[in-house]
Amino acid sequence: MPLRALPDHLPQAPIAQRIDWVFEHARRHAEAFASPGAWLARQRYLAQHPTAILVLKCMDGRINIPVATQTPPGIIQPFRNLGGIFDLGWPHLGETLVAHVNKVVSAGRAGLVIVTYHYSKGDPARGCAGFHYCTDDARAHTFQIREQVRALFGGGDVPTVCPLVCGFETDEDTLVLHGEQGDTLALADLAARMTLRHAVLAWETRAMEPLGDDPA
Ligand SMILES: [Zn+2]
Repeated sequence: MPLRALPDHLPQAPIAQRIDWVFEHARRHAEAFASPGAWLARQRYLAQHPTAILVLKCMDGRINIPVATQTPPGIIQPFRNLGGIFDLGWPHLGETLVAHVNKVVSAGRAGLVIVTYHYSKGDPARGCAGFHYCTDDARAHTFQIREQVRALFGGGDVPTVCPLVCGFETDEDTLVLHGEQGDTLALADLAARMTLRHAVLAWETRAMEPLGDDPA
């Protein structure tokens, strides 16, 4: 996408020039995002794909889930903190999350809460500073959050809000999904490069069927 292209000369340019480029880049993004056509496209996308996607993630600027999953901007609701460290018992976070989930569920939508950690396959030093570059600790924390999401939103026969632990590999911007039994699925390894949206669609169908809903 042209908006993300970084000019070759920029990393060596004077700092003032780089700052100007960042502001101009932000202005172009804002203009594209706020256009009537972009708003209509988002509304259409949400109508076609009703599952609300929330992401808990580190505030590290490399973690761009919409870019990695080829999801249009403005669809995925992010919650950011240093290291992706969260405790859903924190008053403001808990209230914000519950309010958001109530809003989407009241509109007849299911919710997918993606709980992420990040790492670099090329060099551990490019991992998460919030966990002192220890990926095992970062990953272990996401499993704790998954249980908190279940405690907050779980129960019942049909999953309405479902947590999913994902690792984000920042060298190649790829996702690794973690299953319930310690199994993993690296989306980059799939021959057809399955996108997160495909995985969500599969889950969406399963979640909607018992309700007699027709996502189409
Ligand atoms: Zn981090």
